[in-house]
Amino acid sequence: MIVVGGGIGGLGAAFSLTRQGLAVRLLESAPAFGEVGAGIQLAPNCTRILDDYGLLDEARSLGVVPDAMVMRDAVDGDELTRIDLRDLEKRYGYPYLVIHRSDLHGLLLRACERAGVELVNDAQVTSYENTADGARVTLASGGTHEAGIVIAADGLHSVARRLFVDDRPVSSAYVAYRGTVPAEQPRVRSVDLSEVVVYVGPRCHFVHYGLRGGELLNQVAVFESPKALAGQEDWGTPDELDAAFAQTCDFVRDGLPYMWRDKWWRMFDRAPIMNWVHGRIALLGDAAHPPLQYIAQGAIMAIEDGWVLGEHVARNRTADGAVDWSAALAAYEAVRPEHCRRVLTTSRRWGELWHLDGLAREQRNALLRARDTYDYSFTDWLYGPTALTPDQEPEMFTPIPLSSVAIGEEVLTGDAA
Ligand SMILES: Cc1cc2nc3c(=O)[nH]c(=O)nc-3n(C[C@H](O)[C@H](O)[C@H](O)COP(=O)(O)OP(=O)(O)OC[C@H]3O[C@@H](n4cnc5c(N)ncnc54)[C@H](O)[C@@H]3O)c2cc1C
Repeated sequence: MIVVGGGIGGLGAAFSLTRQGLAVRLLESAPAFGEVGAGIQLAPNCTRILDDYGLLDEARSLGVVPDAMVMRDAVDGDELTRIDLRDLEKRYGYPYLVIHRSDLHGLLLRACERAGVELVNDAQVTSYENTADGARVTLASGGTHEAGIVIAADGLHSVARRLFVDDRPVSSAYVAYRGTVPAEQPRVRSVDLSEVVVYVGPRCHFVHYGLRGGELLNQVAVFESPKALAGQEDWGTPDELDAAFAQTCDFVRDGLPYMWRDKWWRMFDRAPIMNWVHGRIALLGDAAHPPLQYIAQGAIMAIEDGWVLGEHVARNRTADGAVDWSAALAAYEAVRPEHCRRVLTTSRRWGELWHLDGLAREQRNALLRARDTYDYSFTDWLYGPTALTPDQEPEMFTPIPLSSVAIGEEVLTGDAA
């Protein structure tokens, strides 16, 4: 079989399917395998799968298992709510881990190499088609590859997705700056590396956490670009970064000089689609469900997709050991699109909540301050075992409307919410 795309999603799927005894060829357009960017957060619904793959110990040794996740207001710096990540690990059975992207990518790449995945670079796929007994991809070079099944994990700008829907990436007008700071820098001394912290502010937010056992501080600064809103082509530039955070607290502003200023990531997603299988071609990862990153589940969903596919291959073998692909792909499509739809729509709403201003910001802050540290009603739908069938998909949480919060003396003094 063929997997197109050597990102975290494609590598995860290639490993999962090779583990089921299938011969996998992975086609990647870039001349070498790699990941750009800095840190990535892996919640228990991902570390559970890494454990099943036998890769969790290596991931732990490369990353950091923080003690707490803390949300603060970016304007005054006050703590709004926190999650005790050691208790969360007990609840879900697996840790919350933060890791450098290149370390996660490298870990999956090495696992694929060990498992015998055929890794092919300089292979840019330009088209996909079903054949009488499988599917065929054509490369920019003119060459073709054929297999019984093609999994398209070709990311946000997926070529394969065009078989399913005529859509385009949706700009959020938000842009992310990233940066890592070596531990010897004074900035790192002002930070508790055992915490994942997000400062939420009007039209902006700022995230930090430790990486590589505390050798690096990872920082992410995200803001709404006025130039994007004005329809200008050249948006998200460093001058906009400084202006966007002008109203935030000293700690956040002091972090900005440490961001990489020569590269930034404009934030796009796409509306959910519920059909991912076309004959013997299936979408996976960002190609199927690129999210906004606010609940940090994009790479996780991609890894879950590959695991679910592998599990359904195992459950759909015919007597002679062949895979009943119609059944396996149907089972995959029965469960993953609805889960990812929930993540995509919740990510958009979560971002809106982070970026509120004025009265709504105060209402949000009052709600968050009233939350019990050990209340898991907003994470149970996400961090439990990955569903293999629709009936295993947990109930969604019930959102609390902001309008239910009366901003008056009682709430502001913390007596009610
Ligand atoms: C700022 C930011 C923070 C994030 N934080 C988190 C987080 O904390 N946790 C989390 O889980 N997710 C996070 N995400 C999301 C996550 O990074 C992505 O969802 C994930 O990397 C998608 O992986 P993928 O393999 O599906 O796609 P990609 O990483 O885009 O990989 C696609 C691969 O396919 C290749 N390719 C593309 N087109 C072709 C072609 N035509 N032929 C052959 N190869 C092709 C590409 O070169 C690439 O290697 C974040 C995203 C951003 C932007």
